[in-house]
Amino acid sequence: MNKELSSLLTGIQNILFPSLCVACNAYVPEQQPLCSRCLDTLKPAGYLGLSPKRMSSVAPAFKKHLSIRIALFSGFRYSPAVKELLHHYKYTSHYSYLSAYIADLLIRDLIRQNVPMRQYHYLTCVPMHPVKLRERDFNHAALLGKHIAQAFKIPFEPALLSVKKNYPLQSHLSEKARRKNPLGRFALTEKDTSAYRQKNAIIIDDVFTTGTTLFSCVNELLPLSPPALLMLTLARA
Ligand SMILES: [Zn+2]
Repeated sequence: MNKELSSLLTGIQNILFPSLCVACNAYVPEQQPLCSRCLDTLKPAGYLGLSPKRMSSVAPAFKKHLSIRIALFSGFRYSPAVKELLHHYKYTSHYSYLSAYIADLLIRDLIRQNVPMRQYHYLTCVPMHPVKLRERDFNHAALLGKHIAQAFKIPFEPALLSVKKNYPLQSHLSEKARRKNPLGRFALTEKDTSAYRQKNAIIIDDVFTTGTTLFSCVNELLPLSPPALLMLTLARA
């Protein structure tokens, strides 16, 4: 397509679908999901220290693997702008475009903060319940993980963990039941996992709030004895 035609089509597209900031609805001339003002409100979150005592209480398998170096890194503090961005990513048809945008924000932050991504041998993600996956068509953590793995040239292994068969949907459990039984929701693949043994691992999710989901996943990954394990999220509440 020649440049004039492409620019004309972009112009028509702008009139038909003006680019509005997903967080504050301001017009964004650059056709970006967030306006520069909302972008400026994003605050880096960085690493969160996790003591062996805390890890042992949230992921009991850690007691047998005390020498594993576990870290949590989040790109940004959970804020209204991040909330809206993730909401649009998860619940609208623009997810492909938004996944690339969100991943790019995180990639730039990982580089800025010198997170040693290349020391990890593979990247996996928090799996999604099969019923939810059918409803949504995509696993938001997996899509994000794919972009991050590609950017840092790390093998991406999205099927290493799965939600256990017949495990009830989180939304069907009461808050009390969720807190009571956070473990036992995920399982390591029944396929041969020898290629992942003693390899440094990254597991990605969109947001870290109580950590229940990520810690439950980590509990299943620990028997693989990764010397280093990084939990990675876009945001942290
Ligand atoms: Zn805005």
